[in-house]
Amino acid sequence: MAVTPGLEHARKAIGWAARDTSGVLSPFNFTRRETGDKDVAIKVLFCGVCHSDLHNAKSDWGQSFYPLVPGHEIAGEVIEVGSKVGKFKVGEKVGVGCMVQSCRSCKSCGENLENYCQGMVLTYGSKDIDGSITQGGYSDMVVVDEHFVISIPDGLPLEAAAPLLCAGITVYSPLLYFGLAKPDLHVGVVGLGGVGHMAVKFAKSFGAKVTVISTSPNKRKEAIEHLGADSFVVSREQDQMQAAKGTLDGIIDTVSAVHPLLPLLELLKTHGKLVIVGLPDKPLELSAFPLVVARKMVAGSCIGGIKETQEMINFAAKHDVKPDIEVIPIDYLNKAMERLVKADVKYRFVIDIGNTL
Ligand SMILES: [Zn+2]
Ligand SMILES: [Zn+2]
Repeated sequence: MAVTPGLEHARKAIGWAARDTSGVLSPFNFTRRETGDKDVAIKVLFCGVCHSDLHNAKSDWGQSFYPLVPGHEIAGEVIEVGSKVGKFKVGEKVGVGCMVQSCRSCKSCGENLENYCQGMVLTYGSKDIDGSITQGGYSDMVVVDEHFVISIPDGLPLEAAAPLLCAGITVYSPLLYFGLAKPDLHVGVVGLGGVGHMAVKFAKSFGAKVTVISTSPNKRKEAIEHLGADSFVVSREQDQMQAAKGTLDGIIDTVSAVHPLLPLLELLKTHGKLVIVGLPDKPLELSAFPLVVARKMVAGSCIGGIKETQEMINFAAKHDVKPDIEVIPIDYLNKAMERLVKADVKYRFVIDIGNTL
C-alpha cells in the first residue's frame, strides 16, 4: 500500500520501522500524540517479536502502511498520565497488547470483548480515531488510552509479561471460552511455536492432560521434558495418529500454514472442539462427516478482551506461567526476523528496548 504520512504529532519518538515489502527494519524518527486526558504515556522497556510482526513488516497480508513500526507485545513503565486517568500512576509497570482503541459502544465492547469490535484499532498499522496510523512497540514510548493498558503485577518480570499480551491471551481465551480450562480434560496443541508453547503451559496450569501434535519428531524431548506435555504425537506417523484417535476433548491449533484438518478432527472425542488460532493465508479443507456424526465443532478465536487479558496476566503471575524467551538487543532485530522465518527460536524473541534503543 502507498506510504501514508498520517498526522504529525508534537511528541518525538524513535523506533525501528520497515519501509517496504523487504521487511528490513531500521531506525525511524516519528511522532506520537501528546498525553490526552484519558491517556497513559509509557516508556517501552521490552517488546516481544510476534510472528505477525514479520508478516506485517513484509506486507504478506497485503495491507501494510509504510513506514511501519511493528510490535504488540509491549511492556514498560508509566511516565505520564492524563488528568482523567484513574487506573494508573507514574512509575507503574504496564503492558499493551494487540489493540489500542475500539468503538466503546457496540455489543462486543459492552461485553468486554473489544477484540471482536468492528471499530477495534490495532496497536500498529491501523487507522486510529484521529486519522493517524498507529505505530507499535519497537519504539521508545507509546501513548495509549488507559482502557487498553494492562497492569503488570509485581513478581512477573516485564520481559516475560510482554509475550503474554499476544501469544498468551491468544490461547488463554479459547481455553476458557470453549470449556477446556479444566482438570481431567485432555487437550491437544498443534504447532509448537511462540503461541503453541504458551498453549501447553496454560493448559497444564489449568490441570489438563496435554498432547502436542507436531510434524517434527525432534521436538518430542523438548515438549515433554521441558514444557511439561504429557505426550507427543508426530502428525506424519500414521500409527501414532491412529493410537491417539478419539482421545482429545479439545485441540488448540496454532498452525499458520495450510494443513489438513481431518486427521486432527479424528483425534477428538465425540463433542470435541477444534479451535483454530493461526491464520493460514488460504482456505482450509473441511469435511462435514466427522462434525456431523460425532457432533464435533471447528471454531476460531482471536486474542481476548481487555478484562480477560488482565485476568490472564494476573493468573500467569500467580501460577508462574511464563513464556520461554530469548532477549535480544534491537540491532539484532533483522537477524531475529530471519531466524523467526526458520522457526529458530525457543520460543519468543523479546527486544530489550530499554537498554538498547
Ligand atoms: Zn501477535
Ligand atoms: Zn465496539
